[in-house]
Amino acid sequence: MKEFVVLTQERFQLVDITDRVEEIVGENGIKDGQVLVFVPHSTAAVLLTENEEGLKRDWLDVFKKMVSGFNFRHDLIDDNADSHILSGLVGQGKTLPVKEGRMVRGTWQQIFLAEFDGPKTRKVIVKVTGD
Ligand code: ZN
Repeated sequence: MKEFVVLTQERFQLVDITDRVEEIVGENGIKDGQVLVFVPHSTAAVLLTENEEGLKRDWLDVFKKMVSGFNFRHDLIDDNADSHILSGLVGQGKTLPVKEGRMVRGTWQQIFLAEFDGPKTRKVIVKVTGD
């Protein structure tokens, strides 16, 4: 199991971590199996999408709208219910196939750490399994 750290700058932000995950998969030596990309945080997530500036901003608009207009009870103690809810909805981990020592993904499928309560120091755990 490997891990790396991402420093986020905004409250809501998408950070492309594809290269760092691919590097770990490449060094690993496992030819066929799967890779789990997981964030041990309840206010961040892992998202697969295209790395295009307009689309990244579109995602952030959708995320903000999804959690607007509520009177969240958790905000009385921590003021980040929106962050927890988006983290749970998007998911705190994703699994991708590994074939011939490489991660299998579509051309427009980059891996992002989705920050919902930044700026923060985030940990990304990468676990490759298989033969
Ligand atoms: Zn909280």
